[in-house]
Amino acid sequence: MSSSTSPTIIVTGDRTTGPLHLGHFAGSLQTRLTLQESHTPLILLADTQALADHQGDYRAVRQAVIDVALDYLAVGINPQKSTVLIQSMVPELAELSFYLMNLVSVARLERNPTVKSELRAKGYEGEDRNIAAGFLSYPVSQAADIIALRGTLIPVGEDQLPMIEQTNEIVRRFNRMVGENILNECEALLSNTTRLPGIDGKGKMSRVAGNHIALSASADEITAAVNKMYTDAQHLTINSPGQIKGNVVFAFLDAFDPDTEQVAQLKAHYAHGGLADSVIKARLNDVLQALIGPIRSRRAQFAQDPDAVLSMLLCGSAKARQTAALTLHKVKTAMGMYYF
Ligand code: ATP
Ligand code: MG
Repeated sequence: MSSSTSPTIIVTGDRTTGPLHLGHFAGSLQTRLTLQESHTPLILLADTQALADHQGDYRAVRQAVIDVALDYLAVGINPQKSTVLIQSMVPELAELSFYLMNLVSVARLERNPTVKSELRAKGYEGEDRNIAAGFLSYPVSQAADIIALRGTLIPVGEDQLPMIEQTNEIVRRFNRMVGENILNECEALLSNTTRLPGIDGKGKMSRVAGNHIALSASADEITAAVNKMYTDAQHLTINSPGQIKGNVVFAFLDAFDPDTEQVAQLKAHYAHGGLADSVIKARLNDVLQALIGPIRSRRAQFAQDPDAVLSMLLCGSAKARQTAALTLHKVKTAMGMYYF
């Protein structure tokens, strides 16, 4: 736990692997919007980390930096209230990663449940393990980001909890090694929707799985996704009772419909029988069109001036760099790695 006397510093971010989706919005972006009213969150566009996912496709990663920044601005991240930075523009983060890399074993990284499930999803299990070394070590890079920027409270989705645990292990190990409490531990901050399912209901919403609805989706794309959405395979006639648990439409209504009373009524009616899938889908379609429509138009406005977006990112990166340099200086001094 972070000590009660130290200030709360919010650090969070996204891998720049493509435009953001509703899972990102429910799991993390909404919390950031609330927090930027009382704190100045540091929000990281994790482009060096995204390279590990994209295995060398640097063009896609570069494009996604702008796409994700546009998504941020479109949902209401305000550069006056949040510091948005590009990971690769703060080289101290990479340097710190390199030091921290020696405080974690390969076996520990392989045991990290998020790494494990991502390796499985990518088909990298088995004997030859043709995995980029950067991919296996990405929890260390994430730890370095949090540590360098002095993060104490980290708004994340549920899948990121093992990363926070790993970060704190590294912090404790470093402090033990140098015999001084140089680094602070951090805590995760979960949203109300810790894991938004994909539209197929098969797992979390994820770009990799292709079961997502982008925050930049067109009206037609939203409707098509809602129509395809998994409900209850046993709900064959309108009058038969329907399942709420595992029903993606209700998971989305829980996450995004502001009228919670009406959602409760719809659930009761559906569970009892007599409510068609088309009715709950029509409601969800309205809710999502109302949510995404304004995001889409704000995004289009910001997209007209990419230079302004880039200069906002460079400004945030320069600001974050000062903090990261200070942390790195402390770390290197504690390790006796300054030679003058
Ligand atoms: P994708 O697989 O779609 O690229 P990701 O998990 O790789 O998504 P990250 O950039 O690693 O995306 O995660 C950014 C933040 O968004 C993390 O805090 C993560 O927990 C959160 N997040 C991503 N997908 C979901 C989801 N379906 N539900 C809740 N939170 C999510
Ligand atoms: Mg990703």
